Amino acid sequence: MCKHSRVGWVVAAILLLAACSPRDTETSRAVPVPNIDAEALEAADAANWLTYGRTYDEQRFSPLDVINTDNVKDLGLAWFADLDTARGQEATPLVIDGRIYVTTAWSKVKAYDGATGELLWQFDPEVPGKTAAKACCDVVNRGLAAWGTRLYLGTLDGRLIAIDRETGEPVWSNVTVDQSKGYTITGAPRVIDGRVIIGNGGAEFGVRGYVSAYDAEDGRMLWRFYTVPDAPGRNEAAYLRAAESTWTGEWWRLGGGGTVWDAMAYDPELDLLYIGVGNGSPWSQTYRSPDGGDNLYLASIVALRPATGEYVWHYQTTPGDVWDYTAAQHIMLADLVIDGETRKVLMQAPKNGFFYVLDRATGDLISANNFVPVSWATGIDMESGRPVEVPEARWDKTGVPTLVTPGPGGAHNWQPMAFDPDSGLVFIPVLLTAFPYILDANWESKSQGFNTGADFAAGAMPANPQIRSEIMAATTGALVAWDPVDQQERWRAAFKGPWNGGVLATGGGLVFQGHAPEAFAAYDAKTGVELWSTNAQTGVIAAPMTYFIDGEQYVAVLAGWGGIYPLATGVLAEVAGPVRNVSRLLVFKLGGGAELPPPQPEVIAPLNPPPVTGSEEQLAEGARHYGRFCGVCHGDAAYGGSLLPDLRRSSMLGVADAWRSITLEGPLEDRGMVGFAETLTADQVESIRLYVIKRANEDKALEDEE
Ligand code: CA
Repeated sequence: MCKHSRVGWVVAAILLLAACSPRDTETSRAVPVPNIDAEALEAADAANWLTYGRTYDEQRFSPLDVINTDNVKDLGLAWFADLDTARGQEATPLVIDGRIYVTTAWSKVKAYDGATGELLWQFDPEVPGKTAAKACCDVVNRGLAAWGTRLYLGTLDGRLIAIDRETGEPVWSNVTVDQSKGYTITGAPRVIDGRVIIGNGGAEFGVRGYVSAYDAEDGRMLWRFYTVPDAPGRNEAAYLRAAESTWTGEWWRLGGGGTVWDAMAYDPELDLLYIGVGNGSPWSQTYRSPDGGDNLYLASIVALRPATGEYVWHYQTTPGDVWDYTAAQHIMLADLVIDGETRKVLMQAPKNGFFYVLDRATGDLISANNFVPVSWATGIDMESGRPVEVPEARWDKTGVPTLVTPGPGGAHNWQPMAFDPDSGLVFIPVLLTAFPYILDANWESKSQGFNTGADFAAGAMPANPQIRSEIMAATTGALVAWDPVDQQERWRAAFKGPWNGGVLATGGGLVFQGHAPEAFAAYDAKTGVELWSTNAQTGVIAAPMTYFIDGEQYVAVLAGWGGIYPLATGVLAEVAGPVRNVSRLLVFKLGGGAELPPPQPEVIAPLNPPPVTGSEEQLAEGARHYGRFCGVCHGDAAYGGSLLPDLRRSSMLGVADAWRSITLEGPLEDRGMVGFAETLTADQVESIRLYVIKRANEDKALEDEE
């Protein structure tokens, strides 16, 4: 038997049994895949990386062991490529026959020679800049799918595009969403038997979630699976009619949410496609479904037939979600020995802080345990499979402002986990955060900005150094090694900031992960001891991957700080220190001797605001509008991050006319700053200006005290 073949790792084990000599990596080199089909995707040879999570089971484990615990200390930069988008880089590259294909922010695609880094082609789908205002969480993209001789890309503005892998030329393009609504695509498509599966995001923007399948050959839509019911009487499918009674009020007017914005996995043997469903739109049930209810299929894992989109089973992680506890997080399949029996399981660590192990044939709950401290529930009832809620955590029902952990960023977000079949551990990029949920008593749905029903202004961080430092100290992150059989933590690497990167596990006994402010590191999978690290000059949030060309194993990762956390969390985004965005593809190999250029000094404009002039009423109104329409991009309490203009430092602060023109008419729309004329009046945007002036003066006073 090969060292890595064991129960619980079916696809790779079959490959390795067939490929035992002389060594895994030698054999993997000899499997060119010019035409990717079901067989190639299921075989998943180790030289290539053919689908988002490497294999259909999305384990993000590579059997490659050229780089291992003994020699990882000699890992060096083989080559790097600067990217032309200084925004969050979240993609996992694909590697096919020696070429590496990556997506970047703004849904661009680039192809390089995997050994030399030579740029072979690039494709820019020219996403309109104004689309940024519909993206909850930065203008990111998480990757491609491959089938036949093509690549498949979902673009931020909702298109699915087939690209010729050899030339980078688009072959077909199909709009998958109503572009007049708040839909975006950031997730990677998957391809199952010639069907390209794609979801979308937008549950903060009043949309109704779904996943669709398109014919890989000609782009025809084959089926669409909605995750929440339409109005009663308008639902044909039985699973949607069954869901109607779990909703009240007129949810369909508000969209309902339930977007499938990231996770998918596939079991070829059971022929089941698993999708992760997101939060409700709006967050508050008081508005979304006033008499409560489970609100199916929000925050659920749903199993479908990939050929037809037919519903098979679901498991709801957070019934009647009001905390933005999406179940869109990484879905991973494995075969685990539990109580002496080999079980086909599905694993997920959704935002709500519990680690779930389900029977993936039936959706039955096998076990669940919290992997972080949680305040919204005391556990999962194994009889019903439902959380045992803490009633006070239902902030929108009580109407009482409530600090809940985890917050809407989750205990785990989109950052992919990894599984090591040798140790049996799942590695989770964990966030330890809390959030003050406060009902917006006067909420109404708007065509622009977040539609949550929560009052972000009332929960904004005060300019109080003690409160700030206490909350910052409680806001951390960790790479956690989790035993999914015993539902216990085995080791953790703790970080200063919560927003750490996706994970890769390898046959070399290694776990690779990046974090803020600028490290990319390798850990011993069994012990968590850091064996190697390098300075990436920026925060790394994307997941690393690995491939093999001509006797060399390479480890690649996209570097580039961004995503929701640096945009929206204000001062908390600086928990790990100020983090810049330097967007690059970094590729490492043993003995690699390439060097990054020295980092450019960062120039930050001083805080130099005009004096505070607004009346108390104007400042309060400005705070309210800022919290609802500005803060998720420009930072909580106007404390800006490194990605977008820090409004406290803006030269427009003292120029009321220019401020009004930019915020209402949208002359900077191509850069993502849309005009808000359909939503806000001139007096209201002036109140926002006065509020930002006040905030800038408060923070300047704090700086002067230091
Ligand atoms: Ca959300």
